[in-house]
Amino acid sequence: MTTTPHDDTATANLARTFADYAPSIEGRDIVAIRPRYGLMIDGEERDARDGAVFSTIEPANGEHIAEVAEGAAADVDDAVAAARRAYETVWRDMPGRTRAKYLFRMARLLQDRSREFAVLETIDGGKPIRESRDVDVPLAAAHLFYHAGWADKLEYAVPGMTGRPIGVVGQITPWNFPLLMVAWKIAPALACGNTVVLKPAETTPLTALLLAELAAEAGLPPGVLNVVTGAGATGAALAAHPGVDKVAFTGSTEVGKAIRRATAERGTRLTLELGGKGAHVVFDDAALDQAVEGIVDGIFFNQGHVCCAGSRLLVQEGIADELLDRLRRRIELLRVGDPLDKNTDVGAINSHAQLERIRGFVDEARDDGAQVHQSTRALPGKGFYFPPTIVTGLGGSEAICREEVFGPVLAVQTFRTEAEAVARANATRYGLSAGVWTEKGSRILWMSQRLRAGVVWANSFNRFDPASPFGGLRESGFGREGGRQGLQEYLTLSPVTA
Ligand code: NAP
Ligand code: MG
Repeated sequence: MTTTPHDDTATANLARTFADYAPSIEGRDIVAIRPRYGLMIDGEERDARDGAVFSTIEPANGEHIAEVAEGAAADVDDAVAAARRAYETVWRDMPGRTRAKYLFRMARLLQDRSREFAVLETIDGGKPIRESRDVDVPLAAAHLFYHAGWADKLEYAVPGMTGRPIGVVGQITPWNFPLLMVAWKIAPALACGNTVVLKPAETTPLTALLLAELAAEAGLPPGVLNVVTGAGATGAALAAHPGVDKVAFTGSTEVGKAIRRATAERGTRLTLELGGKGAHVVFDDAALDQAVEGIVDGIFFNQGHVCCAGSRLLVQEGIADELLDRLRRRIELLRVGDPLDKNTDVGAINSHAQLERIRGFVDEARDDGAQVHQSTRALPGKGFYFPPTIVTGLGGSEAICREEVFGPVLAVQTFRTEAEAVARANATRYGLSAGVWTEKGSRILWMSQRLRAGVVWANSFNRFDPASPFGGLRESGFGREGGRQGLQEYLTLSPVTA
């Protein structure tokens, strides 16, 4: 978190890295929220064919923000047809340097309008404004810049191979980083010459729609980026659509499996970025102050709604009492409350349903005899809030150790040896992230070769960079986003033969 008294935290570093892009925030009136939003298809905003709408809610107070069109199969058909036309008539054969211009323009416009995006993201999703401002929006712009830079250099992306675009890509995104996940998806897809139909999450559709508006402002040709808002059924219609050549999904493992089955029917290309149950492994030689900040950032950043959250803490026995004592004191300092307040560390839980789910996990652990320690700070009277929580007295088989809680809840276990730490860390069906805290370089290497995770951070956590491939193993999915590896997911590759 950016508020920590220690400057040396992962998020503080991250914020510094992207500080150039960071706006300063004013009030909620910086963004003009309309009472009603339509679908964005073929460069036009329009209602769903059947006129259906849903409500998007402000998690900070539980109130209605706006009505949003709920796309059905017929609207997905229209969007896929528009994307196909744009692919065949404009985008596929456009020189990479020209495609790059549109992406650079979008990145710059996003910087120019970054306050608006940050405030809207916070209102619609509940995350602290400091995170939207210093992480989500600047990192989204950074992804657009990074991929714009690749658009005219794709022949160098995969040595020995030539790449051509795949075609129409269906992209489905979650609610935890609504704008950032959209940027992660559309930037490589468009840079590689594909056109897109995007289905953002139901609880957080507004910044994706604002980005589509911004794309039009950047002059992006109609049909290159289409947004069909809606619920799970809208996403299912997109994933199963015969006109879609590739599906890119970020979301839960359960829905990811359903999409895998649907796409397998047609042989549609697929990448899946799914859930996680990341472990922080803290050895007794670790720099404890830094480890505390990394652990706090790893699980309380974005209310713990983070796929790669360090939701399990594995601590070596000899330092367990001291580390837990420090963590308990540290969470008392976290300010939970109004996401639009610049001093807030932990904002609102994204939805009432998610709040109930988090409560369910913690209640079950308590009923099973685990010790639950929570911050004693008062929570706001309305809206969806959950206090920073640390759960101890766990054996490892409890749901809270195995399932993705996706909330500000840390499950703690201890270990004695390196081998035991690896066994415990790997005792999960997921494989997205892990963190190792130790002063010994050889131990970092030894551990990182054995931890089954797509990303292993050493003495840090939650570091992201557009140039660095991100993705999972096992039930955390497959495929990578970011870096050259992420580009390959949006290209059809053939060997270069002389
Ligand atoms: P989710 O319920 O799986 O939903 C993700 C997206 O899929 C939403 O747009 C959702 O629409 C849509 N969807 C729901 N049912 C569908 C279906 N049957 N077919 C097609 N699409 C469908 O996940 P979430 O609750 O939004 O997000 C949290 C999950 O995302 C967590 O598990 C988290 O770990 C994961 N995540 C992973 C990464 C990563 O990079 N690995 C990054 C961020 C988040 P609705 O919103 O209408 O339900
Ligand atoms: Mg909302």
